[in-house]
Amino acid sequence: MIYNLGSINIDYFYSLQRLPLVGETCAADEFETGLGGKGANMSVAIARAGGEVRHIGSIGHDAAWAQDYLTKAGVETSFVQKMDAPTGHAVIYRDAFGENTIVIHPGANVLQDKDWISSALANSEAGDILLLQNETNLQDYAAALGHGSGFRVAYAAAPFDANALQAVLPYIHILILNEVELAQLCKTSVDTPDSLDVDLVVVTKGSEGCAIYSKELGETHMPALPVTAIDTTGAGDTFTGFFLAQLDRGCSVEDAATCANAAAALMVTRKGTADAIPSASDVEQLLA
Ligand code: AMP
Repeated sequence: MIYNLGSINIDYFYSLQRLPLVGETCAADEFETGLGGKGANMSVAIARAGGEVRHIGSIGHDAAWAQDYLTKAGVETSFVQKMDAPTGHAVIYRDAFGENTIVIHPGANVLQDKDWISSALANSEAGDILLLQNETNLQDYAAALGHGSGFRVAYAAAPFDANALQAVLPYIHILILNEVELAQLCKTSVDTPDSLDVDLVVVTKGSEGCAIYSKELGETHMPALPVTAIDTTGAGDTFTGFFLAQLDRGCSVEDAATCANAAAALMVTRKGTADAIPSASDVEQLLA
C-alpha cells in the first residue's frame, strides 16, 4: 500500500494564446476549475494505475467535493481532515503551446499535525511506500517516522527547495525529480544524481523520458513515447503515481519506468490535471 502525505488544491485554469508579460493584462479564451495539487494528483494517478493508496492531507470546509473526488477515484481518504482554513489552490495560465505558469496558495496543506500523521501511518506493513512531496509541512517528520517504521520512503522534490530536500535526504529510499529540479540540486549540493546517498534516483526529462540511477542496477535511460504534447500540467505527478504503483505491486524498476513514461505521455496529450490522468487500461493499450 502507498501512504501519500500530500497537498490537495483547487486548480483554476486560464487558457491564453500566450502567457502575460510583466504588467500586461490578457483576456483568457477559456476557464476551467478542478481538483489539483501534486499530492492529490499523485494519489489519483496511483489509484488509476490500480494501486492501493491512502491520502493524508487537509482541506478547508469549502472543498468536501475534493475529498469525494478522491474517494470516487479509488483513494482511501479517512485521513483527509477538514480545517478552519482555505483549501490550497493554484492559478494556472496555459498558453497555446502547452506551456504554463502556476501560482499556488498552500492554505490548509501546510497545517498538518504530527499526531494525525502518526495515526495515519500506524497500521502499515513492512515494505509499504510512504510518498512525500514539498507542498505540505512536516515532510521531514513523516520521512523520519516512515523510515523508522519500515516504509520505503519516496520523495518527489517538487516544488524544489534545497533545505526541504536536505531535511528528508537521510530517510528517503527513492527520489524523483525533473531536470529543472536536478539543476537546482546540483547548484546547491551534488554534482550528479548518483553521488546522492539514495537507493534509487529517477530524473524525469520531459520528451526524453527519464533516467534512473540505482545503487543496485546502475544508470539506465528510458525513452519517452512519441506523442504531441498539448498540456504538460501534471505529467510529473502522473509519472510518479504510476511508477510507485508498479513498484508497490512488485514490478522491476525498468518495467515501472516504462509504464510511468507511457502514462505521462498520455497525460501530456490531454488538457487538465486530475481528470486527465489516464487509467491503467489506457496505458496498457498504448504499450500493447
Ligand atoms: P517532466 O516533468 O517534464 O520531466 O515530464 C514527466 C514525464 O512526462 C517524462 O518523464 C515523460 O515520461 C513524460 N513527458 C513529458 N513531456 C513529454 C513529451 N513531450 N512527450 C512524451 N512524454 C513526455
